[in-house]
Amino acid sequence: LSNTVEQFKESIFSTMTKMAIENKAINLSQGFPDFDGPKWVIDLASKAMNENKNQYAPSMGILPLREAIAHNYKRFYDFTVNPLSEVVVTTGATEAIFCTCMGILNPGDEVIVLEPFYDSYLASIQLAGAKVVPVTLKAPNFNFDIEELKAAVTSKTKLLIVNNPHNPTGKVFTAEEIEVIGNLARENDFYILSDEVYEFLTFGVDHKPTATYGDLANRTITISSTGKTFGLTGWKIGWAIGPAHIIKAIHNVHQFSTFAVSQPFQWAMAEALVKMDEYLVEFKADYLRKRNLLISGLKECGFNVSNPQGTYFAMAFLPEGENDVDYCKKLIVEKKVATIPTSAFYIKSDEGTKMIRFCFAKKDETLEAALANLK
Ligand code: GLN
Repeated sequence: LSNTVEQFKESIFSTMTKMAIENKAINLSQGFPDFDGPKWVIDLASKAMNENKNQYAPSMGILPLREAIAHNYKRFYDFTVNPLSEVVVTTGATEAIFCTCMGILNPGDEVIVLEPFYDSYLASIQLAGAKVVPVTLKAPNFNFDIEELKAAVTSKTKLLIVNNPHNPTGKVFTAEEIEVIGNLARENDFYILSDEVYEFLTFGVDHKPTATYGDLANRTITISSTGKTFGLTGWKIGWAIGPAHIIKAIHNVHQFSTFAVSQPFQWAMAEALVKMDEYLVEFKADYLRKRNLLISGLKECGFNVSNPQGTYFAMAFLPEGENDVDYCKKLIVEKKVATIPTSAFYIKSDEGTKMIRFCFAKKDETLEAALANLK
């Protein structure tokens, strides 16, 4: 086996979902909705299938989808993207992250990641032969220490990965924080990968893509997908946008890893993205209600919970002396509620052992049933 792959373990999300099923527990662990995506979007996919859009798609993604993606960056963020050269459609954000790492990193390059972080970052960086340099976001506010971040930068730093809104903490980075990261990138000439898959899941704050800050578009790869926004995580329609020469490199990896993404789902998304405004209002209201339901319920149960400004996750800080993995096991076995031990998101600090993550992308009944179990 590859020496790198030999070190990989099963993803925590698969592990916890399996444990939830085995223990007949309510699954608030892995981040996916337990309800279906909108019927009108699903109907668009069946329409595309019935219109014989079932062969290989163009490797970059069908043009109408690339145009719809560019159209949305313009209207939501006033950000101009050339659909011909600055967008590539990928199998979810996960493949975009992988192709970015493989496309721009060389062995020996260093990549700064803000921990806690999504598990695929580490694997993608390691597969590219580069070195992960973690900088810890400090609980309970999950701010980074500017001096610590500066100290992490070396002449080998090639890339910094920021996830905004942030899984698992629910943090939305402030403009000042993005400016700090951006200035470091400018001064030290490294790229930024901005993972924005939760871009439409914010509560009371607005999302602003990193690439829209001044000239950061020249060095930022923006990654997003439709999994969270449309509650269709199984469709795996994602993308990377960025400077043309970077997108070309990302596409060079994509064409030899999957070549192209499922065609009917691309057609459905091409249409859905430009017609999503009404849906978005309802989507945001639903998630705000779910968030408040979970947070107030957990507080009533005596949990010390975070106040997420984004994503569909909330963190609970455990009582002194408890450890996340044991606590999660206890909740699954005794309370029949599955969550995620957050140490899985850390490689440097042990702060993760003091927290667990709840997902509220669930039916209200599911959240109510979980809270009843926890009480
Ligand atoms: N991003 C989702 C989560 O954080 C899981 C995705 C996956 O299972 N790989 O729960």
